[in-house]
Amino acid sequence: MSSPHRPLNPRSGLVLDTHELGRRAGAMKVVRASVEAPADLGISVIGVPLGSPIELDLRLESVVEGVLVSGSATVEVRGECVRCLGEISDELEVDIQELYVYPGAEPDDDLASRLEGDLIDLEPLLRDEVVLDLPFQPLCRDDCLGLCVECGANLNDNPDHRHAARLDPRWDALRGLEGGDGESYDVLQTAPRAMKFPGQSARRNKE
Ligand SMILES: [Zn+2]
Ligand SMILES: [Zn+2]
Repeated sequence: MSSPHRPLNPRSGLVLDTHELGRRAGAMKVVRASVEAPADLGISVIGVPLGSPIELDLRLESVVEGVLVSGSATVEVRGECVRCLGEISDELEVDIQELYVYPGAEPDDDLASRLEGDLIDLEPLLRDEVVLDLPFQPLCRDDCLGLCVECGANLNDNPDHRHAARLDPRWDALRGLEGGDGESYDVLQTAPRAMKFPGQSARRNKE
């Protein structure tokens, strides 16, 4: 993973200073800090709100080639449930494990993360880890019932929510034709029957 080439702000909470380690292999430093989340940490449907606290719990260990950063970052996550559109508010802990190679050192891997001077930019790694852990189809809960397709009511609030089988009113006229077991065409058969039994039909008409 490579850091984008932009000047690092040493005061940004996600920029770690390794100066104290003095490039002595074996030196170690613990970083426990609450820092502000940068913009765009997440995907469109769910992400970490700008400025929300990120809790860092990290060990910075000096090794021969660079500085090994390990530990965790805990972030707040906000998003919208894809089924019921309800707000999702959650916490996400991502594992951090990355070797930052000293500038000038020759890593085998061109894509290795690098220190810039004494500074480590944690943001690109954190971004990758957070995005990797976020669901593309976030749900407020695994069994979210979603919304009623007819009226938009939240079915989680009322799982028994039903509508009486209601058809388009224009079908009401045809409802009389509905039935089962061969009775469906009664109305249509009235005319032919009347023709077959004209006398009977005439009597009925008089009544
Ligand atoms: Zn939901
Ligand atoms: Zn409904």
